[in-house]
Amino acid sequence: MNQDILIKNASIINEGRSVVGDVRISNGRIQKIGTLESEAADRVIDATGKVLLPGIIDAQVHFRDPGLTHKADLYTESKAAVAGGVTSFIDMPNTVPNTLSLERLQEKFDLAAGKSLANYSFFLGVNGDNIDEVLAMDTSQLIGVSDDGLYFTKKGNLLADSPEKMEKLFANCKSIIAIHSEKEEIVEANEEAFREKYGEDLPAKFHPLIRSERGCYEATERAIAIAEKHKARLHILHLTTEAETHLFRNDIPLQEKNITTEVSVHHLWFSDRDYERLGMRIKWNPAIKTEADRKGLLKSLLEDKIDLITTDHAPHTLEEKEQTYFKSMSGAPMVQHSLNCMLEFYKQGLISLEKLVEKMCHNPAILYDMTHRGYIREGYYADLVLVDLDSPWTVAKDNILYKCGWSPLEGTPFQTQVTHTFVNGNLIYDSGTFHEQAYGLPIAFGSKSK
Ligand SMILES: [Zn+2]
Repeated sequence: MNQDILIKNASIINEGRSVVGDVRISNGRIQKIGTLESEAADRVIDATGKVLLPGIIDAQVHFRDPGLTHKADLYTESKAAVAGGVTSFIDMPNTVPNTLSLERLQEKFDLAAGKSLANYSFFLGVNGDNIDEVLAMDTSQLIGVSDDGLYFTKKGNLLADSPEKMEKLFANCKSIIAIHSEKEEIVEANEEAFREKYGEDLPAKFHPLIRSERGCYEATERAIAIAEKHKARLHILHLTTEAETHLFRNDIPLQEKNITTEVSVHHLWFSDRDYERLGMRIKWNPAIKTEADRKGLLKSLLEDKIDLITTDHAPHTLEEKEQTYFKSMSGAPMVQHSLNCMLEFYKQGLISLEKLVEKMCHNPAILYDMTHRGYIREGYYADLVLVDLDSPWTVAKDNILYKCGWSPLEGTPFQTQVTHTFVNGNLIYDSGTFHEQAYGLPIAFGSKSK
């Protein structure tokens, strides 16, 4: 179990600064930061030339467990996450059965306790039918409620489609309400028009014209207006258009925002230029849009209109993906490579390491009010990642850890490599080797932990 470990001479990236120093880990926590003596440590790791980051917190993943474990499960995907430097995640409610009650929510926590190598939490699902049940709960005890992915189960489940349902939920829910923001009526009208013109076998490049900018913009604009009316705590998941970024503020700190948003790594990485090459493999909802959208999203991330980075890691088997347009499932795996992608942007001079840490580590912890995570601070959990910034490698079938066994990034060269990942002080990932000595912990947050 927990060893006393000393990390020596790392470039520590934390809270807007980069400082060379040592970090001592003891009893699962960061015991001391500074210039430290090596004696008494069970193990010393020389981190000269490497950067030490807080573990990445991925606040939107679909690990498919329970019910869809032919695609992925909490063990395989948390393992891939840890190899990529992700130490905590929040999983979405469209597992089977959908996570629509406190009993189902507890089942997922119980499952993760014996399976997940990273720290975990789970959204409670809210669909068109269970709003009254959700509002009868003490919603302040939930990390968040979300409708994400539930629209696959049944038409009409998207909250963004129903002002009445949003009014009711937003007026009364005390937790964060994280929504998938697209107007299904616009998407469906586009689907019909394209089906009529081209038949069933559409090329993937039509996806952003069907799941269009207008569908996203109108949904987000309306949801924000209703949230403002009720002073609700609204979070728009995976923003995809430059146009929507102007609906968010950057003149107040994240802690004071009632309306927040995120961008998923693939919407920063890919654009519509990639559909030709990758086809249905990059079919996501909401869709990957234009190069101008991709650039606009990165710009407003840097300007703090977008608060955090997630992956929306959503694995499917290749058989489920590589079908004709209307049958191909939306979503793809990303959690193992999100840090590598963002570090490539750093290498290109597009983002600083400090900003990357703010958006991938600090801000998810602030937004979801997580206790003692997201920072390199004495007394905090030792969720830490060591990265070699000059260690080239290429994504290939034999280094993909997802249960589904593929990635839209296959063949992509990265210049950086995660070498060590600590979860609660346990060195789980060590230069290609896993030490599976402990499972992750449920993420404490808000009033639950005070
Ligand atoms: Zn999602």
